[in-house]
Amino acid sequence: MERTVYLDYAATTPADQRVVDAMLPFFTERYGNANSLYALGRDAARALEEARETVALSINAAHPDEVIFTSGGTESDNAALFGIATAGGRSSGHILVSAFEHHAVLEPAHWLGKRGFEVTELMPRTDGIVHPEDLAAALRDDTVLVSVMHGNNEIGTLQPIAELARATHERGALFHTDAAQTLGKVDFDVQALGIDAASFSGHKIYGPKGTGALYLRKGVRFAPYLMGGGQEGRRRSGTQNLPGNVGFATALTLMDAERPAETPRLTGLRDRLVGELLGHIEHARLNAAEATMRLPHIANFVIPGVEGEAMLLHLDAASIAVSTGSACSSGSLKPSHVLLSIGCPVEFAHGSLRVSVGRFTTEADVDFLIRTLVPVVQRLRSMNPMYEKTLAALTGQQG
Ligand SMILES: *Cc1c(COP(=O)(O)O)cnc(C)c1O
Repeated sequence: MERTVYLDYAATTPADQRVVDAMLPFFTERYGNANSLYALGRDAARALEEARETVALSINAAHPDEVIFTSGGTESDNAALFGIATAGGRSSGHILVSAFEHHAVLEPAHWLGKRGFEVTELMPRTDGIVHPEDLAAALRDDTVLVSVMHGNNEIGTLQPIAELARATHERGALFHTDAAQTLGKVDFDVQALGIDAASFSGHKIYGPKGTGALYLRKGVRFAPYLMGGGQEGRRRSGTQNLPGNVGFATALTLMDAERPAETPRLTGLRDRLVGELLGHIEHARLNAAEATMRLPHIANFVIPGVEGEAMLLHLDAASIAVSTGSACSSGSLKPSHVLLSIGCPVEFAHGSLRVSVGRFTTEADVDFLIRTLVPVVQRLRSMNPMYEKTLAALTGQQG
């Protein structure tokens, strides 16, 4: 297969070879069940607890038991929402989630909303930030849980989690954050942030797919929904995925070790991309451009006059992998709920392009994208009878 110019690191990442190497012995030689009492099992248990301590240390958890290994970001988000909301048999109360959460938070929130809980979606402002004063105004005496993601996976803005958690606690509710996109990429300290729960995913940090963890602060009441053998401190039953958990911990260790050098490198690539794209494609805009607190690896653009899907397919033909906000589900084009939540008009949300760089991205990759994208946009615009009208609306909006 021709080499793919992969610019979709926010969707997933290739496992790092060093991660794979660390995992391999646990498939064959060190295959014990961590819950068995003989030597092979004790060896597995030791490796599992080492992995847990590694993760706990990285996020500055007060105790390793606060780290629960899961199958990834989606499971951790579901477990946090269901487990905290329904703890102690609770069946009602107010839940606040931001409107631009990942669907792994939104869907369980909506499910709870149909079964006794009341759910409010908190709007971010046009800068792509959930402002603490907006949260404070939306909190109620009966609010039990607030969930606001740390770094948005589409537009890359970072949220003021410490302030949001403080506002939440002042009203007696618990605070969860989806950190699938931020773990390993920015400093993440659960005690400094003052949060009660957080979700992580392995495959966003060069670890294996189907791995991740839920941080659950000691003392937070939690109702498990996977029941059985009582693993993970009775909070997540099922024989642990030892190779996966070792891979996840190794991946996180590498992220932490390489971050000081990697962050400026990624930021440089991202800024080169933004500069070149805005410089070469007329009327293109960077979404949530005002936000200063952002992830180093994600840039999201609106390119008026082109459909995201068409752009994506043309780039795919040139072996470039990028993402668009509008997902073609069941034949209907749905604009991104994230872009709509920050006030991006529907007609522009259809022409969005998310580019995310990572460990194996080079300047040549970024330049190749720009070189390929410029004529693609020209061609698509020339074929679009609505382009002039779209442009007029855009100019009108800006003026
Ligand atoms: C990828 C992602 C998830 C889902 O994680 P999986 O491990 O793929 O289930 C959840 N939230 C955010 C912000 C993500 O980027």
